[in-house]
Amino acid sequence: MSVQYHRFLALAALLAAPVALAGQARSIPISQIRYDVTFDSATAQFRNIGISMSFTTAQPGDVLLSLPEWTPGAYEVSNYARFIDKFDAISGRDTLTWDKFDPDTWRVKVPRAGQIAVSFEYKADSLDNANSWSKPDFAFFNGTNLFFYPEGQGTDFNATVTVHTNAGWKIATGMKPATTANSFTATNYHDLVDMPFFVGMFDIDSTTIVGRTFRFASYPSGTITALTRTGIFQQLAKVVPYQAMVFGEVPWDTYTLFQVADADFALGAAAGLEHQNSHLDIISTAVLGNPILASLYSHEIFHAWNVKRLRPAEMVPYRYDREQPTTLLWISEGITDYYADVSQVRGKTITPRGFYGTTTEKIDAIADLEPTSLEDASLSTWISPVNGTKDIYYDKGSVAGLLIDIMIRDASDNHRSLDTVMRELYETTYKKGKGFTNEEWWAAVSRAAGGKSFADFEKRYIDGRDAFPYDSVLPLAGLKLFIERTVRPSLGISVSGDDEGLRVMQVVVSGPGATAGVKLGDYLVKVGGIDAGDPAFQEKFNAKYAGMPPGGLVPLEIKRGTQRMTLSAPVKFTTTEARRLIEMTNAPPKAVRVRDGLLNGTLQQ
Ligand SMILES: [Zn+2]
Repeated sequence: MSVQYHRFLALAALLAAPVALAGQARSIPISQIRYDVTFDSATAQFRNIGISMSFTTAQPGDVLLSLPEWTPGAYEVSNYARFIDKFDAISGRDTLTWDKFDPDTWRVKVPRAGQIAVSFEYKADSLDNANSWSKPDFAFFNGTNLFFYPEGQGTDFNATVTVHTNAGWKIATGMKPATTANSFTATNYHDLVDMPFFVGMFDIDSTTIVGRTFRFASYPSGTITALTRTGIFQQLAKVVPYQAMVFGEVPWDTYTLFQVADADFALGAAAGLEHQNSHLDIISTAVLGNPILASLYSHEIFHAWNVKRLRPAEMVPYRYDREQPTTLLWISEGITDYYADVSQVRGKTITPRGFYGTTTEKIDAIADLEPTSLEDASLSTWISPVNGTKDIYYDKGSVAGLLIDIMIRDASDNHRSLDTVMRELYETTYKKGKGFTNEEWWAAVSRAAGGKSFADFEKRYIDGRDAFPYDSVLPLAGLKLFIERTVRPSLGISVSGDDEGLRVMQVVVSGPGATAGVKLGDYLVKVGGIDAGDPAFQEKFNAKYAGMPPGGLVPLEIKRGTQRMTLSAPVKFTTTEARRLIEMTNAPPKAVRVRDGLLNGTLQQ
């Protein structure tokens, strides 16, 4: 059902709608729903996945079948119905009449009770982890792409999926295996569409992490060496326990990490999409084996708790027929990214210094963009703003998580933390079958901080656009944001290394080098008395000249043929500033307790 239809309904209601109208959005009841999915070397040639959905009706009438507009976790309208071709509906030997009811809903005219089968082809050529994609020997797909739901019947229906493929090809999914071969079951539509599939030739291996089976499925086959795979398993075995510790439970029986590496994916990029017992990463082949993937895995796995279970009320339950905007995506994504980092530092797969470095990068990313409130950014993600702030709730939400964690630990002398908030909301909302509201979030934060009000913090830094109060909050954890200034000489020449040294390849007319008399082909030996080829040149130059005003004379030693000569250049300086999150050397004991608690995931007893 589309958004347009809702608007029409609302308008019709105002105009005293005819009673029959609401009934039109309902399918006649259908049961015994099963989906047969065919992907083999024949359909792969056309990059198609074949679908047949069969069900039973107890009466004649209109069956209304819809495909989702979006996949939860991928906050954009994708209209999967547009990838459908060759739709057909039959009952026994009869071909049934059908038409579109709305852009993503098919209406099938059922003349009598009985068994119906609808079929179609889905174009599997989108290298997008919320969609379907294929190669001659492989496909991945998401249930949101292929599995129709009947309109007006709710989501609590049983369904079976059977995959038909080449003998010898593999099938992997988070769905529960059925008793018949290559078949899987779900007890409701949410689970059905939350468990992507790999079909074809791929590698799959497993280990035990947090006491449960953990599988790694990767395509193309052979791209992950046994050593890399073992390394990933060892890292996650250290990190995931610290994630489970936040919530006090492991909510899956088996977890599957699906990974596709392809050269067509944006160079150097990696994107993950979370699910309740799996996640699907698509990565550029250029990042295969790159340690950066550890933080992607950490982020996506943490989502199994934060967003797949603990979720903003606006997204409970998931609806598939329209967007579900919320102001709280910064918690679902940003706080998840904060935990992706701290669970790594707690698991000791990264050092505190590495954690500070990653946090500094996030602080830089926030500073580089137009001031944008976290609540606004959360809402706007659905429309992809062009000003670069589309994804800012990741970095900014992550840093907000750090600041809130520090403030709670400070207010409670490290007796409670952001972990306390996550755990409480998990228990009081997700476990009670509902989502959390903005009020519930801040009430939990305030409670954890012993009643301290966060109203001003929320108003200024979460709903508002004020720059984060780094200088007042970070010292509470014995941390500070240090601005490092670097001066570099600007000589107006460019050099290139060869066997003899650094050869001058370019001299800017009227630049400092030209003024001093540097010529093309000279070799640069020393600048300001410092060896130009010294790997520590910049540091040494900085130490010697940081205080010198631009235009002062710096000696340049060059080699011209066999001659060595010293010229004097009126050096210009370029000054750059870089932020660095560092530990304060003189932090008071309480701040050290807060910092240690945060880095180790511990509280005072
Ligand atoms: Zn995420």
